[in-house]
Amino acid sequence: MYNSMNLEEIKKLCAQTLVWDAHAGVFPNHEIDLTLLNEWRKNSVNYVSINVGFDVMSMNQTLETLAAYRNWVLKNNDLFVLACNMGDVVIAKKEGKLAVAFDIEGMNALSGNINMLSLYHGLGVRQMLFAYNLNNKAAGGCHDTDIGLSTFGKTIVKEMNRVGIIIDCSHAGLKTTMDIMVHSTKPVVFSHSNPSTICEHQRNISDDQIKACAKTGGVIGINGMGIFLGNNDINTHRIVRHICYISELVGSEHVGIGFDYSPQLDIDVSAILATRPDFWPPGQSYDTPDIKHAGPSQIVDIAAVLTGIGFKTNEVEGILGKNFQRVASIVWQ
Ligand SMILES: [Zn+2]
Repeated sequence: MYNSMNLEEIKKLCAQTLVWDAHAGVFPNHEIDLTLLNEWRKNSVNYVSINVGFDVMSMNQTLETLAAYRNWVLKNNDLFVLACNMGDVVIAKKEGKLAVAFDIEGMNALSGNINMLSLYHGLGVRQMLFAYNLNNKAAGGCHDTDIGLSTFGKTIVKEMNRVGIIIDCSHAGLKTTMDIMVHSTKPVVFSHSNPSTICEHQRNISDDQIKACAKTGGVIGINGMGIFLGNNDINTHRIVRHICYISELVGSEHVGIGFDYSPQLDIDVSAILATRPDFWPPGQSYDTPDIKHAGPSQIVDIAAVLTGIGFKTNEVEGILGKNFQRVASIVWQ
């Protein structure tokens, strides 16, 4: 059914519905000033998950970043809220604030200690990835020889289900993700990965992974980076093509947004990345000059294009946030 809404009605829809960005690409570092989160708030995003660590960092560096970000959010409670549960997210929206929780990209942050999971949860981490491109003690990475989920990894799945942290399969290897989705008793997400049928890349995911994720009741967040969308093109129509592909394969209730977007940062990220080039191997377009990033400023446009091609209002609301909200409501309990 064709849904004819004008731009004002689309803007109203985006302002009224819950908008959820499942993963921001803000580089995790304790020196970064989170005032940059205003870009999400101003574009009517209601919840964003920001990254406090990834496998390149040690457990100590992750804890240091988590401490700094957590303090910043708590101190700036006039505009931001540390979201501990879904009630916090709903209240934040009512009060016009941005709800923030943290994610960690890879299990090196545990330093081999399963007890760290409940500690991280206590400090505001609500989503964790198993690996960051390369293998670790728990799992295989998407740019490595996939070792699958290790025995330690299996205990992590169980503990994350128990503690209430969303299992995120982005950046992990194919076999690893299939193992995780067999073992998890709760919905599993790919917070920022695109279908590889549309854009062939090791960071993107196969139809089998998309189907397995949907079977858990999970959601795939569309990544806004040009090299994962294809041809470094961040046009809204290209983003919508990825959304349509997943919707046709498993249903629009399994699609969301995880832009992986970062505004200009006040630290020299490229110098830090250059210390561990193995995490971004050659041949995977990481050396593309001027990599483009779609971000929260395209939300209204995405809703407009989806509506224009016939997505129903409730489907658009699902994609903008309610699908991820459904998963979080189940897992965070
Ligand atoms: Zn990532």
